[in-house]
Amino acid sequence: MESFDEERAPLPRNMIENSMFEEEPDVVDLAKETTPSYPLDPDDVVYEPRTSRLLVRGLAENDADEDEEDYESSARLLGMSFMNRSSNQRTSASAFIRQEPSSFCSMPSTKTLVAGVFILVLVASMVMVIYFLPGCTFTKDGCKKTNASQEVVFPISESGEPFPWADLRLPGAVVPVHYNILLHPNLTTMTFKGTVSITMTLQQDTDKLILHSSNMKISRATFEGKEVKPLEYKLWQQIAITFPELKKGQQCTLKLEYSANLSNSYDGFYNSSYLDTTGTRRVLAATQFEPLAARKAFPCFDEPAFKATFSVKIKRESRYISLSNMPKTSTTPLPDGLLLDEFEKSVTMSTYLVAFIVANMSSVSRNVSGTQVSVYAVPDKKDQVHYALDSAAKLLEFYNEFFDINYPLSKLDMVAIPDFLAGAMENWGLITFRETTLLVGNHSSPLDKQLVTSVIAHELAHQWFGNLVTMMWWNDLWLNEGFASYMQYMSIEKLFPELDIDNEFLNVRFRALAKDSLNSSHPISSVVKTPEQVEEMFDSVSYEKGASILLMVNSTLNDGEFRKGVIEYLKKFKNRNTVNEDLWNSLSSVSKLPSGVAEMMNTWTLQKGFPLVTVDRTGSKVKLSQEHFLLDAGNFTSKNLWHIPLTYVNDSCSIASDCKQVFLLKEKSANLDIPAGVKWLKFNYKNEGFYIVDYGVEGWKALIDALQQDVNVLSHDDRAALVNNMFMLSRLGKVSFRQVLNLLDYMSNETETTPLTEALGQLMHMLRMLEKRQDLNLVGRMQAYIIGHFQALMDSQLWEEESSVAKQTLRFTLLEISCSFNRGNCTDKAMAVFNNWVASNGTDHIPGDLMRVVFTQAAKTEDGWNTLLQAYRHSIYDLEKRKMLEALASTQNVSKIVWILKAGLSGSVIQNQELPLVISTVCKSFAGYLYAWNFVKENWEKITQRFPIGSFAIQNIIVSTTSQFSTKLQLQELQNFFSSLKDKGSQMRSVEEAAETIKLNIQWMDKNLDTLRNWL
Ligand SMILES: [Zn+2]
Repeated sequence: MESFDEERAPLPRNMIENSMFEEEPDVVDLAKETTPSYPLDPDDVVYEPRTSRLLVRGLAENDADEDEEDYESSARLLGMSFMNRSSNQRTSASAFIRQEPSSFCSMPSTKTLVAGVFILVLVASMVMVIYFLPGCTFTKDGCKKTNASQEVVFPISESGEPFPWADLRLPGAVVPVHYNILLHPNLTTMTFKGTVSITMTLQQDTDKLILHSSNMKISRATFEGKEVKPLEYKLWQQIAITFPELKKGQQCTLKLEYSANLSNSYDGFYNSSYLDTTGTRRVLAATQFEPLAARKAFPCFDEPAFKATFSVKIKRESRYISLSNMPKTSTTPLPDGLLLDEFEKSVTMSTYLVAFIVANMSSVSRNVSGTQVSVYAVPDKKDQVHYALDSAAKLLEFYNEFFDINYPLSKLDMVAIPDFLAGAMENWGLITFRETTLLVGNHSSPLDKQLVTSVIAHELAHQWFGNLVTMMWWNDLWLNEGFASYMQYMSIEKLFPELDIDNEFLNVRFRALAKDSLNSSHPISSVVKTPEQVEEMFDSVSYEKGASILLMVNSTLNDGEFRKGVIEYLKKFKNRNTVNEDLWNSLSSVSKLPSGVAEMMNTWTLQKGFPLVTVDRTGSKVKLSQEHFLLDAGNFTSKNLWHIPLTYVNDSCSIASDCKQVFLLKEKSANLDIPAGVKWLKFNYKNEGFYIVDYGVEGWKALIDALQQDVNVLSHDDRAALVNNMFMLSRLGKVSFRQVLNLLDYMSNETETTPLTEALGQLMHMLRMLEKRQDLNLVGRMQAYIIGHFQALMDSQLWEEESSVAKQTLRFTLLEISCSFNRGNCTDKAMAVFNNWVASNGTDHIPGDLMRVVFTQAAKTEDGWNTLLQAYRHSIYDLEKRKMLEALASTQNVSKIVWILKAGLSGSVIQNQELPLVISTVCKSFAGYLYAWNFVKENWEKITQRFPIGSFAIQNIIVSTTSQFSTKLQLQELQNFFSSLKDKGSQMRSVEEAAETIKLNIQWMDKNLDTLRNWL
């Protein structure tokens, strides 16, 4: 909090820099012209372009038509509908109030001079300039900046009065210091009552207070003890209180009494329910506030930079318990038979980290270095919490030591919520999880444990990265998510080597490369304004690319420097908010890199995409050049350049980490000398850098020859990276498909998981697209190719318990493909395992990694499908249930597809949280994918009522239903549908990504179908 005043710039510094990379040349970015220091009069922030530069731009122009256009583009970009607007309304006050242009600083017009009132005007102007001088100094450009027809468009509040604020972001004049919150959820009526009392300090003189509130009925409001009437502007979820001006430094208190429904979507204070083992529906209330939903539970300053402390009290019935971020201090019986729980005052934190739960739960606890760690689950599942407790204990000790700062709270609760949309949420001291990401039953496989451990490691890392130090605004979400993701892989590799997490991290990097190769991708640190844009930041770029570039930095710095820099960053910014550069500066301060870390890393965070490095070798001379790796469906050209910490090994030394040599490529091209006798070079050691390498025909040939003689000349990560890069280059059109097949020929000697799963994944992606085009001849040849190359491995897999995660991963990949090709070796065995399992009434154990293969095979028959559905209804092991659900959704039977999609949407038999999984699984089969698309279109309204527009669930649904389309007709259909949605999702980045993917699929088919026919 103490740093708020200095650090809260109208536009975060990196946003300003970001604008250099934006592709909106037609938009005047006033941010560039604005001083990033805080304006003297915060009430004038509205004139500043921090979050509505288009609005400002529109208003600064005189031409009426352009004005009109600009309103519309502003509205579109702001993702909202400006209701009831017509051209005549615009000039009247009915929809917007326009302030008169402020004229005190403008020069008198020539006309006026000609009219002979020169002296009068001059005198008047001088008087006014002197009088208003302080008002003109609030920007670097003084009066010049504010005189351009500064008309402020104020929206109209619910009561019909003008709402005194016209910006999606809150003003910085008033900052909250402490919240007293009293909540009484009623789990019978599914409503809640609340009282919030907010103590605030004024950073500037002001006469108004703007804060967030969404979907609540405020029954009483008092400001400084006097009753007031808040104004509400629903579209922006803001309320306002106006009052006679108060001075900077004063404290004031706002108290609000309100009521609302417990939310039916997965955000805010929401109701979650489940069927217990007796078939009775049980209810609970839980919260999910990140990113923008704390305002649905209590009126608040709902932006991450407004950190404050919180004292929470909860009224409940005695059959439930209540939990919040902090330990409970007391429980008091009330006259009406309810109990009142009171919690300790919290640490300073952002609103999105506040949490509370009212439910019937059981728990286990343990003291870990002075922190009481507990794991909660519904009573039926109380035996499944021990693995999570053990893992969390190890991880907490690791992070306490790694960050050199102890976890600051005396308790840490981890709660499995029966109906929960995200994987987990890092609320400080009260982490919430899906049941599948926290609970581990007796049947869980090492692969299941890898998932649970990963999610716990991620959420615990957030307690430092995100909770203790928080990004200033959602544009830098990656500082939270990229870091927590990177720490999750790093900590698990150290603490749980048996979980083979490095293989998973390699796959994550490949996935991030694929996503970031599209033109619809975005810089890691992007401009974010509307709620939908905030939701869309929770994507692969923030998480996976973020983690990938942190690995690249860590492997570029000297040993220990990364950790030192991170500790420095956390200690320096503890309890505060940061931007991108703060992290780089902390790393620079401890590193010996010749050029600063910021200079290098800005090229990775402020521009989208990544480089393709081309290696052109002649004897001992190697020419290295870089260009943007862009799978371009249009004619976009990019001049992006990166500072690439290139690494390479050669045939004389290629495995050990000290073989690695480094070359910093900053320019478009550079030359490197190598010893003449070197047979081959492999760049990007272990794929630690975020780039792709093309070796040219000769370079590739030398590598392929070497692998054919001995696969062990390179590490398995490097082999997997070669496979990945080759397929990516083929999609880019840089290598022929013949070259891809040449590389895959070495695979007959390959036994390691990562190169094999990468090759199989790429081939199966192509096969699925061909299947969807019903090109059965080619499908058959592709299947024959895959079987020809991999059948020995497929048939040598054992169907018994396997302890190695890497071997499990390879086994289920091979067997899923084998059974999906209906190979008797696989299907017979799968059915035998299933029949034994049924005969034993579920007690005969199926290895966890094989469950999906076995269940999917069983689901192909009527009996098998029905048996699985019964088992699904009654199982209390969520990881197992999920595999059953995937099997049920893999059916090719149309009536079953219809049933399961509807069941996923209605949320009775199948919980709503699973709808994205149901849809993506249905889409894998030919019968399912066209039906799923129609289903999504027909039910869009209902789907978006449950899942926020832009959320990860919606992104997932759009991508999975459309990513296999490859015809112009399908593209047209997608575009028609989404453009008809207007403010219900037409502006989503995932829609743009879907359209681009289809265009690329069309291009790929045009280019490669003949080639495939020739070569397969
Ligand atoms: Zn996270």
